[in-house]
Amino acid sequence: EINALADEYLRLSYHGIRAKDKTFKIKFRICFDESIGKVEVAPEELGRVLLNLYNNAFYSIIEKKKQSKQAFEPMLEVTTRKLKNAVEISVKDNGLGIPKQIIGKIFQPFFTTKPAGEGTGLGLSISYDIITKGHCGELEVEAQEGEFTKFTIRLPLVNNSK
Ligand code: ADP
Ligand code: MG
Repeated sequence: EINALADEYLRLSYHGIRAKDKTFKIKFRICFDESIGKVEVAPEELGRVLLNLYNNAFYSIIEKKKQSKQAFEPMLEVTTRKLKNAVEISVKDNGLGIPKQIIGKIFQPFFTTKPAGEGTGLGLSISYDIITKGHCGELEVEAQEGEFTKFTIRLPLVNNSK
């Protein structure tokens, strides 16, 4: 079930962050559509995608916290929504955002802005393949530098007549 999966992997990711930094605080905005039907998706594959999106979001927030002089309130929004023929899952953070010059490259294998040892640059390219090639879905990004980053996953709903 999509909502349970989105929640489970959020806890997993957050747990990993808190294990490294007990003082890390963040506001979650979780908005799940309870009417979401069944989606044909391998749970461990969608889980892998979600984990990568969450980890990236926390990373970006932590970096922004290190860089910003003023206090800022970290926030992560996770939303699920049922569309006509698809299910949408979005993950939005108010971390560093993504500069226009690099947003076209983030789904490329091995593209990373993280220091060696902290990122392989493979997460989003693998996620993109899982969602699009693996499940006939879509993975989109919208971002504003310094403000926010939002990833949206869209997966086709299982056809009832099947
Ligand atoms: P990695 O996390 O190993 O760097 P990814 O494929 O997961 O590789 O991400 C590629 C790059 O996309 C990151 O290095 C970063 O520059 C950018 N990115 C991804 N998610 C975010 C985010 N939530 N906020 C800001 N930048 C992001
Ligand atoms: Mg990553």
